[in-house]
Amino acid sequence: MIECVRIHSYEAHSLVNGPGKRFVIWLKGCPFDCPGCFNDEARSFIGGRYISLHELEQRIVAADVHGVTLSGGEPFLQAHELVPLMRKCGRRGMDRMIYTGFNFNDLKRDAVPGARELLKETDLLLDGPYKKDIPPDGEWTGSGNQRVIALSRAGMEMKRIRRTEWVEQEYIIDPEGQTVRTGI
Ligand code: SF4
Repeated sequence: MIECVRIHSYEAHSLVNGPGKRFVIWLKGCPFDCPGCFNDEARSFIGGRYISLHELEQRIVAADVHGVTLSGGEPFLQAHELVPLMRKCGRRGMDRMIYTGFNFNDLKRDAVPGARELLKETDLLLDGPYKKDIPPDGEWTGSGNQRVIALSRAGMEMKRIRRTEWVEQEYIIDPEGQTVRTGI
């Protein structure tokens, strides 16, 4: 059986979704309903596409990036599937960052199946729903209630270099000439 995840999209070279050059995967579908959600298309459970974990791994390796970021939709809804991919990325020396609408304490209690296993393969966790009325206090987070939680030595280093003045968005032109806007 081919192991797959359901995604909205991915970007092979992002500079605003964590430190350094990163491969970003936006999973598909989110159970939260944050007013002002920055990514309505990824939040919807309609559509998206399935991609094999093997293909994703190959694309990540080919991108030659510093790290991998999983973003919303809600990555922890596919925790079981994502564990082996993130484990392999870690073994290849990449750092791993995950955005989640869940609270860290709930994830530690396995609020969704596989959550604790995925936390073990996470260096930096950005938790909590987006609250549009609370300004962010540094780069990478969308609102000030979201916590930046280091779960490993690599995560501590990522957190250490987080800036309080930062680039908010980037525009990437893909090989087909389509412009992709990303960032927080
Ligand atoms: S958790 Fe993130 S993806 Fe989900 S609704 Fe909130 S802002 Fe949107």
